[in-house]
Amino acid sequence: MLAIGQDPVFPWIEPELGIEIGKWELPVLDPVTFESTRPGVFFGGDAALGANNIVSAAAHGNAAAISIDLYCQGKDLHQDRLPPGLNLSSQKMGLHEWIYENDYDGTQRLVVPHVRKSVALANIATEVELGYDIKRACEEAERCLNCDVQTVFTPKLCIECDACVDICPMDCINFIVDGEEDELRARLRVPATNLDQDVYVDGPLATGRIMAKDENLCLHCGLCAERCPTGAWDMQKSVIHLPQAGGLCHE
Ligand code: SF4
Ligand code: SF4
Repeated sequence: MLAIGQDPVFPWIEPELGIEIGKWELPVLDPVTFESTRPGVFFGGDAALGANNIVSAAAHGNAAAISIDLYCQGKDLHQDRLPPGLNLSSQKMGLHEWIYENDYDGTQRLVVPHVRKSVALANIATEVELGYDIKRACEEAERCLNCDVQTVFTPKLCIECDACVDICPMDCINFIVDGEEDELRARLRVPATNLDQDVYVDGPLATGRIMAKDENLCLHCGLCAERCPTGAWDMQKSVIHLPQAGGLCHE
């Protein structure tokens, strides 16, 4: 969706205000902070960089809001802001902290209940989506596959007891002699034929072998981490930090 609006014109910005107007009659801006040449004055949307789409306009608003928040706190608009985009960091999870069940949940997606059409159409201000009640919300949340949770292996903790190999329902964990990738893929308990998916290799271990796990097969069920007596296998959750004015939003 284009956010063209009308041609922004700034004849009302008097030259002595210190807001420099540049190419295309648009204000000269810092492209990161959206601050004009006058400190404390910010622009966004098509008044900032010209016509673009509505998503860009919303992103300008987000970037400018972060800048305004930092400005009001007397902080540096560049140094004290998180880089735009996503900032991933891992969160260590303890043995009993899996926040999901290991079983695949075959429940179909639950539709969000709406008010009756006759009620919704009678008044344009009616809130149409009623939202889930607590029971439905829990059922829907249980369907999450938690693909943000990853298996992480620490070789120095592994005593090569093979307990994780036994419990893995996909036979994707291997403790084997190292080798070239092509040949190693063929030697796994279940040969790793999907070349688009990496084989997770780590080691060497105390016996000189390595751990190789086919990421194409792993369900991220967490059973290896539950079974491992030493914590060599761990489930770690990636947390997405979205920069926003006033701090971070955790997803
Ligand atoms: S998370 Fe599950 S499927 Fe993946 S290696 Fe561990 S036990 Fe196997
Ligand atoms: S269960 Fe743990 S200690 Fe045993 S082989 Fe697997 S990773 Fe190593």
